[in-house]
Amino acid sequence: MWYITRLKIIFEKKVIVDLHSHTTASDGILTPTDLVKRAVSNQIDILAITDHDTVKGLPEAQQAIKDEKLPVKLVCGVEISTIWKNNEIHIVGLNIDIENAELVTLLLSQEQRRIKRAMAISEKLAKLHIEDAYAQAQQFAKGDIVSRAHFARFLVAKGLVKDVKRAFKKYLGKSGYAYVPTQCCSISDAVNTIHAAGGQAVLAHPTRYDLTLTKLKLLIADFKDCGGDAIEVSQSRQTQDDLQKLAKLANQFELLASQGSDFHDLVNYLDLGKTTPLPGSVTPIWHNWSLD
Ligand code: AMP
Ligand code: MN
Ligand code: MN
Ligand code: MN
Repeated sequence: MWYITRLKIIFEKKVIVDLHSHTTASDGILTPTDLVKRAVSNQIDILAITDHDTVKGLPEAQQAIKDEKLPVKLVCGVEISTIWKNNEIHIVGLNIDIENAELVTLLLSQEQRRIKRAMAISEKLAKLHIEDAYAQAQQFAKGDIVSRAHFARFLVAKGLVKDVKRAFKKYLGKSGYAYVPTQCCSISDAVNTIHAAGGQAVLAHPTRYDLTLTKLKLLIADFKDCGGDAIEVSQSRQTQDDLQKLAKLANQFELLASQGSDFHDLVNYLDLGKTTPLPGSVTPIWHNWSLD
């Protein structure tokens, strides 16, 4: 695998990198095995699986790569939900040791908070005469942790809303009938834990939090103060202006740049590996990664 990547580097061919993706271990639609196969079809050289608050998809992905000798380098990752000034902010961890005790402990408490939240959402839906929502959402989660995305799929399947977007607007989003705020760790908890697990911490999709530029700068400054390493500069659902703005912010705050499709499915996100390449002005987070 790295032989191919080295050759690509020598001949200055494009190395395709996607450092943000989801599997059925959280709210993606592909199993870890199918996700790594799709990465290979899309000619990705380096892929990170970054499920929400869990690393449970990674062993299956590693096994599939080994068994089928798939030519893709898998980066062990996670996307941790945090709370910052009443906003839910996502921190991606890359190159983490998935067995690290601090990480395991943090993810366990995040999982317990998620279960409590899912039950509270279900109770709110029951008050609207939408019965049994937790059990139904669990079926969509196929035994893994239930997220709002699974409730949304249930509400669509029940015919209560036309699509997932509307499910968030009417029921699950901040101004929806069944909204329950997240209870999760702080940015500093997430960054410290990622570092304890030997990884690098990346501020995920910075332009998706609906923050003013002033507040976004405050967020990035706080993230940097917590020891954050990089911000996502190239991501799904962004304009060319956003890309340039984020590249500038990465340099201004002396942070590395990451890129990732945030692939969950083909309806709401870019396909794996299809983000716009990073501008030459930034330093990619993988610039000094070992090739072996
Ligand atoms: P949770 O982690 O339980 O809060 O669920 C949030 C997940 O739901 C996100 O990771 C997205 O995958 C999905 N999501 C959030 N908002 C929307 C939206 N407006 N439309 C579609 N999917 C969404
Ligand atoms: Mn998601
Ligand atoms: Mn996210
Ligand atoms: Mn994500």
